[in-house]
Amino acid sequence: MASQQMLKFVTVERGMPEKREADARREDFKEIYAEYADAKAKEQSSRCSQCGVPYCQTHCPLHNNIPDWLRLTAEGRLREAYEVSQATNTFPEICGRICPQDRLCEGNCVIEQSGHGTVTIGAVEKYITDTAWEEGWVLPISPPRERTESVGIIGAGPGGLAAADVLRRAGVQVTVYDRYDRAGGLLTYGIPGFKLEKDVVMRRNKQLELGGITFELNCTVGEDVSFEDMRTKHDAVIIATGVYKSREIEAPGVGAQGLVRAIDFLTASNRKSFGDAVPEFDDGTLNAEGKRVVVIGGGDTAMDCVRTSVRQGATSVKCLYRRDRANMPGSQREVQNAEEEGVVFEWLSAPKGFVGDPVTGVMVQKMRLGAPDATGRQAPEVIEGADYVEEADIVIMALGFEPEDLPALWDQPELPVTRWGTIKAAFTTGETDLDGVYAVGDIVRGASLVVWAIRDGRDCAEAILQKLDAGAQIAAE
Ligand SMILES: Cc1cc2nc3c(=O)[nH]c(=O)nc-3n(C[C@H](O)[C@H](O)[C@H](O)COP(=O)(O)OP(=O)(O)OC[C@H]3O[C@@H](n4cnc5c(N)ncnc54)[C@H](O)[C@@H]3O)c2cc1C
Ligand code: SF4
Repeated sequence: MASQQMLKFVTVERGMPEKREADARREDFKEIYAEYADAKAKEQSSRCSQCGVPYCQTHCPLHNNIPDWLRLTAEGRLREAYEVSQATNTFPEICGRICPQDRLCEGNCVIEQSGHGTVTIGAVEKYITDTAWEEGWVLPISPPRERTESVGIIGAGPGGLAAADVLRRAGVQVTVYDRYDRAGGLLTYGIPGFKLEKDVVMRRNKQLELGGITFELNCTVGEDVSFEDMRTKHDAVIIATGVYKSREIEAPGVGAQGLVRAIDFLTASNRKSFGDAVPEFDDGTLNAEGKRVVVIGGGDTAMDCVRTSVRQGATSVKCLYRRDRANMPGSQREVQNAEEEGVVFEWLSAPKGFVGDPVTGVMVQKMRLGAPDATGRQAPEVIEGADYVEEADIVIMALGFEPEDLPALWDQPELPVTRWGTIKAAFTTGETDLDGVYAVGDIVRGASLVVWAIRDGRDCAEAILQKLDAGAQIAAE
């Protein structure tokens, strides 16, 4: 016992100077990095010409007051910049990291359009809010007064959480229900950590919880609690359940071991990063390490799968897409990132079937682009006799997502849905035809973007507040 204590003592003593040195080096690095980041943010912000025609602002779904917070950042007035930025965006540091800026604010920057390269708006937005977190300017919600009305929100993704934030700031009692064990929706379990660090999402969840929002996690509406009960319990209910049904293909060999869904692959990887037990990752089913990976699809989810596979140590990563590069739905920036990381894109290539069980390859048919279809996009056509087999140990299907059949799952045949299965709701308020029932985010729009879910959530919360205020006024009269 005595010798064990001595050993521990000696180890700690020996370790201390090295640890102190390492800590000091880390602190120095942090300081240098902080100075660099600060200089970079100021330099970029000062490039904004304050043009007076802020296309960046009109093309940001939240209409963020970008020119103002760029000016304040250039002047070193970061706290004010943060106040302006957070006034219109619930999660600026998240949008700064993962908005496809090339299609939104930055793509419409007049400096970009004059050929001089955009102001890096997203990076500045991230910098402002990360600084605010570091400086302790981001505080839990503290409503000026408590209200008695309650709102139940189904789904803790960005749409549900943005609504929760606005409602809680007005003093409403808010409960968010989610079937997962952590809040954040696709921010937590869909988007990979190399694009959006998970501690960034978790600190937001904590801030909302500390502000008085109640989270009922591991609670599936339709199983653990009925939709009817939610309507009885709350003055209003917001459906923010996202879209999770993976699109499938019908082809010979479907069902073979080694064919996996993108969402399962990405969720396993994210769970692993939280330190969760993930048997399907450990047994190799949802792990690309040492494997030849083929990803099928051309959207951003496919890009996340190829880039996650690279990070897991795949021996090769190929992406098959049936149209060409110019016609892919995913961000060009992401394709470029993936290519730089060694991913090979096989454009104009569609899966015809799968070889082996466990899978050993994908039968690929080569395509060409034909006449435009009803949507105006050139339809891919098969080139006869140009098939080949692409070898693979794991094939990840990233073919898009559809809504689950909520009216059937919740036994609510009167819940209004479109022919695509999304919920029919007014775009500016989220109101459905069912009294007191609202819907926001992907479950209304179909698979979309975080920034649009935030916009919907905020708009819907404002509409509910107006209704609650009107109700309270009538009751008082
Ligand atoms: C892999 C991937 C990468 C993406 N990358 C980006 C990106 O880089 N940038 C970007 O802007 N967008 C990206 N998106 C899209 C973006 O994540 C979504 O548009 C956004 O998360 C939608 O928000 P939401 O709140 O509507 O739904 P979600 O984020 O899907 O959240 C819905 C929540 O509802 C819960 N839920 C569902 N049904 C029930 C039920 N019956 N009971 C209780 N809870 C339920 C779910 O568990 C989930 O937590 C990506 C999507 C995917 C799949
Ligand atoms: S929210 Fe997105 S689109 Fe709007 S300014 Fe930020 S990064 Fe650009």
